[in-house]
Amino acid sequence: MLFDDRPKEERKALFDREKEIEELKNSLRHPIIVLTGIRRIGKTSVLKVFLKEIKRESLLLDARALPPNYGRREFFNLLANSLRPSLPRLGEILKSVRGIRLAGLEVEFDWRKGGTSLVELFDRLDERNLIIAIDEAQRLRGPFSEEVRNAIAHAYDYDSNLNFILTGSEVGLLYDFLGTEDPSSPLYGRYIHEVRLERFDERNSLEFLERGFEEAGVRVPPEVLNQAVRELDGIPGWLTFFGSSYLAGKRDLATIKRAAIQLALEELKNLVKGRSSRFLLVLKGIAEGRRSWTEVKRFVEEKEGRTVSSSVLQNVLETLEKMSLVKDYFFLDPIYEEASKLL
Ligand code: ADP
Ligand code: MG
Repeated sequence: MLFDDRPKEERKALFDREKEIEELKNSLRHPIIVLTGIRRIGKTSVLKVFLKEIKRESLLLDARALPPNYGRREFFNLLANSLRPSLPRLGEILKSVRGIRLAGLEVEFDWRKGGTSLVELFDRLDERNLIIAIDEAQRLRGPFSEEVRNAIAHAYDYDSNLNFILTGSEVGLLYDFLGTEDPSSPLYGRYIHEVRLERFDERNSLEFLERGFEEAGVRVPPEVLNQAVRELDGIPGWLTFFGSSYLAGKRDLATIKRAAIQLALEELKNLVKGRSSRFLLVLKGIAEGRRSWTEVKRFVEEKEGRTVSSSVLQNVLETLEKMSLVKDYFFLDPIYEEASKLL
């Protein structure tokens, strides 16, 4: 079903993206591949279909399951969960790693300092020619990130049969985690191969909707489809949201769009949670059409009733770009833009 809301796992449920999957296959000579693109562009779907088709053992970790400021224990829990399905095949190898115990169909790690070493684990997994995929890997940032990054850097140099595929919707933050531009990072200056997912063009967006409705046996007036394509800007996740909402009985684009904006608003609030209220103001300013440094600065100062230092504002703008929310004073996702007006 093209309009299934979950990430796709089968090629037949995935629209287009042949080129990107082919590119992933051809990129496996690189130790680290990043699969980037804004939220809902289809990263998880492409990753899952790719992993399913490739004839290699793989682990998939969803870094969103980690709490902020996660530590060793949470990280190893995540790893244990992702290892479970592979245990029958990897059990022997895992048993030989310090601090690992197999308990039936579970794997237990000694997560204390001096317990299981991630480096040693990767070295052993290397013998099995594994692909380690980490979804939304910018979420690995935090106090424990150094250990994860060191282990990945070690694998880069020594484990020639391991591949890492990291996805990230917050592209700048993903690169911050890897530290390819940070001289103090072990991955400084290393080559990371990037596969980028772009939005569908107008023709593909329309075809996606037509095919999805055809599959469901529902006829939708072409002007409704055209309008949806215009407003959802080729983002597969929003097109899917439109399709599935329509099939569920909401036959009105404006209503569906309002629901999408509410969803985006919740996500936005979560994304900037814990950051200063200036993030919200800058987002709102840009959403309301401030298109330059001076205009955004004036907007924030007027709202706050005080002057804002340039370095603080610079920092907020840079972070919002690293979060892939805005670029050059424009939103990357029109639904997020609408949601930001409600902040
Ligand atoms: P991301 O991981 O980039 O946030 P997902 O893979 O979760 O994106 O996709 C978001 C939504 O859009 C899901 O409902 C998914 O099924 C749908 N989707 C994304 N790309 C495609 C595609 N190429 N074909 C069909 N559905 C897609
Ligand atoms: Mg995803």
